[in-house]
Amino acid sequence: MSKELEVEKRNHRKLGLDLELFMSVEEAPGMPIFLPNGMLLRNELEKYWKEKHFRAGYQEIKTPILMKQEVWEQSGHWDHYHDSMYFSKWDQQNYAIKPMSCPGAIFVFNSKRRSYRELPMRFAELGLVHRPELSGSLSGLLRVRSFTQDDAHLFVREDQVESEIVKVLELIDEFYSKFGFQYKVELSTRPEDYMGSEQIWEHAEKTLESVLKKKNLEFAINPGDGAFYGPKIDFHILDALGRSWQCGTIQLDFLMPEKFDCQYIDEDNNPCRPIMIHRAIYGSVERFMAILIEHFGGDFPLWLSPIQAKILPIADAHLDFALSVKSQLESEGIRTEIDDRVEKIGLKIRQAQMKKIPYMMVIGDQEVNNNSIAVRHRNEGNLGEWKIDSFVKKIIAEL
Ligand SMILES: [Zn+2]
Repeated sequence: MSKELEVEKRNHRKLGLDLELFMSVEEAPGMPIFLPNGMLLRNELEKYWKEKHFRAGYQEIKTPILMKQEVWEQSGHWDHYHDSMYFSKWDQQNYAIKPMSCPGAIFVFNSKRRSYRELPMRFAELGLVHRPELSGSLSGLLRVRSFTQDDAHLFVREDQVESEIVKVLELIDEFYSKFGFQYKVELSTRPEDYMGSEQIWEHAEKTLESVLKKKNLEFAINPGDGAFYGPKIDFHILDALGRSWQCGTIQLDFLMPEKFDCQYIDEDNNPCRPIMIHRAIYGSVERFMAILIEHFGGDFPLWLSPIQAKILPIADAHLDFALSVKSQLESEGIRTEIDDRVEKIGLKIRQAQMKKIPYMMVIGDQEVNNNSIAVRHRNEGNLGEWKIDSFVKKIIAEL
């Protein structure tokens, strides 16, 4: 198959509709609506993310979408990020919809007197953000106006910067390997429109560079593409077709802690300024889903498949048994659907196959009599007759 055909076949907007994952409406341009199947996939991604972060010592938070304009003036977003924000007014008060979740994490850090012993603190947030992309550039889940950043903000001491960045590098590597992605690394340096002094920038850029060198990670320099508050390491994943997509980022920030007067108390009881690391792994959950859909061409690994097993009774007489199989699978946490339409079995199989459902279970007279199921796999074809218990064990082992 030519590359263009392959790209077209994997187009996430087309597959998004075919597999009923998400949709877009004119009434909310660039703000995708997730359908039940899409939510199942999305929830798996978020569940994996939450588990991994919990184990890596992160604490999850949730901060407001709408905050007063003065917050954004203080953070520097008003001066340096104004064109990428939505605004609102209520009760003679100006508000902005968050384009990033940084200030919320800072409020959490500043909510208590912090000791050097508590650091590093790692606040993770699946934060819904809005940015007004041009209408001509909107596309499926890839270029949107509302999306969820899998954000985290780390508050660290000077002596913890390198080791914390190394931990984030390792976490990112673990995530991308889980999905089978290779990736490339870039170091993005000071942009034209930046906040703070050249000295601080130079120090931050040197620090990121030295961590990458110590980890023996190959990287390219991407001049001028840093965030307005600090330089960053960017991660570009490579999909099955060899295309590269920017996803993860690690940003080193000496400035926002200053703007919001973040402090901790050191061993000698002196107030000190923590350093902030902003980081994301998926980047945007929506965008990452688009990449996954195209990478797998909709043939998701079993754990990500919205529907993992489809039961196909041959005739109405087999429906009761089919329903009992469904409830057995569901009680084991296997996401199962039943096709109870009065249609030819060949058609039911073909359609389940087109929906890329990993396992199909055909039920006819023989299966009802033997208390069994005839299993088909979407790629491997016929797997023969199985006892329900042993099939459940097989799926669970695979998961
Ligand atoms: Zn941030």
